[in-house]
Amino acid sequence: MAITASTPPPGLPRSLDYPEVQAGSILAGAATRYGDRTAFALGDESLTFAEIYSAACRFANALRARGIGHGDVVAIHLPNCLAYPIAYHGILLAGATFSPTNPLLPPDDLAFQLTDCEAAAVVTFGPVAGTLTAVADRIPSRLTIVVAPAAEGDLGPGTVEFQAFLADQPDTRPDVTVDVHTDLAHLAYTGGTTGRSKGVQLTHRNILANSLQSACWSSGSVPVLDANGDVVIDQIGSEDEFPARLGTGVAINLTPWFHAMGVIAGLNSALLSGSTIVLHSRFDPVAYVADAERLQVTSLGGAPALFAALLATPSFHTADLSSVRGIGSGAAPMNHEMIRALQKRFPGVIIAEGYGLTEMTMGAVISPSYRSGLRKVGSVGGPVFNTELKVVGPDSEEPLPPGQEGEVCLRGPQMMRGYRNRPEENAAALVDGWLHTGDIGVIDEDGYLSIVDRKKDMLLYKGYNVFPRELEELLIALPGVRAAAVIGRPRDDVGELPVAFVVRKPSETPDADRLIAMVNEKVVPYKRLRELHFVDDIPVSAAGKVLKRELRKQLPEFS
Ligand code: AMP
Repeated sequence: MAITASTPPPGLPRSLDYPEVQAGSILAGAATRYGDRTAFALGDESLTFAEIYSAACRFANALRARGIGHGDVVAIHLPNCLAYPIAYHGILLAGATFSPTNPLLPPDDLAFQLTDCEAAAVVTFGPVAGTLTAVADRIPSRLTIVVAPAAEGDLGPGTVEFQAFLADQPDTRPDVTVDVHTDLAHLAYTGGTTGRSKGVQLTHRNILANSLQSACWSSGSVPVLDANGDVVIDQIGSEDEFPARLGTGVAINLTPWFHAMGVIAGLNSALLSGSTIVLHSRFDPVAYVADAERLQVTSLGGAPALFAALLATPSFHTADLSSVRGIGSGAAPMNHEMIRALQKRFPGVIIAEGYGLTEMTMGAVISPSYRSGLRKVGSVGGPVFNTELKVVGPDSEEPLPPGQEGEVCLRGPQMMRGYRNRPEENAAALVDGWLHTGDIGVIDEDGYLSIVDRKKDMLLYKGYNVFPRELEELLIALPGVRAAAVIGRPRDDVGELPVAFVVRKPSETPDADRLIAMVNEKVVPYKRLRELHFVDDIPVSAAGKVLKRELRKQLPEFS
């Protein structure tokens, strides 16, 4: 039997007390504690914690003035911008439910999502407002709030400009009662890399718990209530153990807030810890490095794709980034080579990797982000506060012993209530109070989890399991390889053959046959790579995950 429960960072309790407050309390508490400190900046504009709270209260009052509140869903169809945290916390403070959409969704997908969640209103911005107009007769929303309209013409019937929406509204917090255990704070759509999009129902308790788990774990803090009854965090761990001191952090954020990692770690946890977040509207590694040096950022965070691009940028290796105290990665596996390269670039800096999924709000397992913690390359660590972990085989819910691969199952206060209107998928995903993640992992004797692959990403060759992750790790360690992804080519006689797509390092010309041979000499025969194709890019989602479905579509071109 191996169920791993959280082992807290030094000096911290095993269990956190989650206050019975709604998720909008995070911003209210941060406004009182961090007031005039800059919370978010984009270009020449910035907003303090107090300014965001004041505007979010006005946004909440404006929604309520239009009859939108408890039980209503409001979608945010925006890239990261200064209006985002105002609208997001405004929705929560109004007692409504936030539903994020990727602003690059094509019309049919957007119409599906807004209809499925029954959005009463949508917050968007000029450049993508046209997509909404195109689907207007297919969606239930009766109100569109437009940030920075591109032209007057964007403001058709049922639309209002963001600042006009806030104008004349009081900046006092509306009097709203929510049941934190049952009322939904988020309805987040997921399935982008797995198939059909499903609405994950997350309560105020889920959001508060996971935002606190994430912020408290990395800063060595515990939640408390302030004099107004709002949630704040107090540092109790030593400064030496936790270099991320509250109220001092500065970071550049590129993780989209429409994704779990963005909104929980990049927005709510940043508010709780009093960090200043600088937004970049698009990723330019050279500009990123220049800003990181100019602002003397204290942490680097994002998906592995961000670090891959940074490591390939010459200025990243020469800039003065001595202010960096921590590096955090999540959403997809970091390969070992990348961890080693980052560790070499930042000796002594803590590199923590988080693992989670939208169904667990965001994060469930994390490697130690405190100084004395034992970090194991290739492992994502152990469960965060109040979270339990097991791996199970295909036919039983009994936990497998350490060292055996199985499906990763999780439970904790951040676990979703279920998918919206999907009884069959709920029955498959939620079994005896545990979430079945669809990820394959192995827990070692110390309780550390390694993700081997996604269940659906596994290849079957003559009935043998082949996990692409293993082949990708081998490839990425070879000379001349910058990125690699492995998928299966279906073939009737054997099932699937492993095929690699490889991006070469700039100005290097590795030989395909040689790379195949170097991998194949390290694996059992049934795992052997059969093909290797050089490509310019490996497609990744906005959240940084390799889009294997897209790669599969490209397969016929490489026959
Ligand atoms: P999402 O719901 O979009 O966050 O996707 C969650 C999925 O991303 C998980 O089920 C995993 O397959 C994958 N994932 C997230 N974090 C990691 C990680 N650190 N290592 C490996 N896979 C990860």
